[in-house]
Amino acid sequence: TALGRGDSVVVIGLGRFGQALALELAESGVDVLGIDTDETIVQDFNGRLTQVVRADATREEVLRQLGVADFTHAVVAIGSSMEASILASSWLLRLNVPHVWAKAITAAHGQILTQLGVHHVVYPESDMGRKVAHLLRGTIADYLDLGGGFAMVTAQAPALMTGKPLDKVGFRKKHNLNVVAVRQPDGSWGHATGETVLSRGDTIIVVGPAAVAEGFIDMT
Ligand code: ADP
Repeated sequence: TALGRGDSVVVIGLGRFGQALALELAESGVDVLGIDTDETIVQDFNGRLTQVVRADATREEVLRQLGVADFTHAVVAIGSSMEASILASSWLLRLNVPHVWAKAITAAHGQILTQLGVHHVVYPESDMGRKVAHLLRGTIADYLDLGGGFAMVTAQAPALMTGKPLDKVGFRKKHNLNVVAVRQPDGSWGHATGETVLSRGDTIIVVGPAAVAEGFIDMT
């Protein structure tokens, strides 16, 4: 389901979650179509995504006209209206978009989306709450303050770092974080280089400015 060359993503609903998602994808070179009913938001995002359209994503003919069926991935990021989220998701599935993701606000909302057949249901608020709890308990990652504003974090490689050489991921350039080591399947550590290709679940050591290194946990 991970994005590959030639893949394109339609993001429906450019609220806080949808905006962050769409911009992050666009900045990493992914072809992104943003759809929102709010004219101000659409104007604001004009030129920052491949295409931004003011439209009601709950209407089938609108989605058809926008060529949504040709996209490989869709993310329904509408949170304010459960009905709109469910309708948009159901059309995307009907249009056979191969990878449909949707954000759920409540467990019941998530259950409905799952029953509809949405491939990936995400719960950003509850996930983040759990993640912060892990951080507080120190279970997700080791965190070492190196002094001088630098820190070292041990964590699982976030999806956006996997599948291609670190040189190509451009993580150091984008986030000012350097991957220094990768744990091998046998438990020993090896150096990470520009040629290293990380896989999901790999444990890595990352070094960089403390504030960025802390934020790294949110990407895992
Ligand atoms: P967040 O909590 O991430 O900010 P919101 O639920 O507040 O999410 O934002 C949802 C966004 O989705 C809003 O910008 C809203 O204008 C947009 N939206 C709501 N309904 C539709 C719809 N039917 N079609 C397209 N966009 C929609």
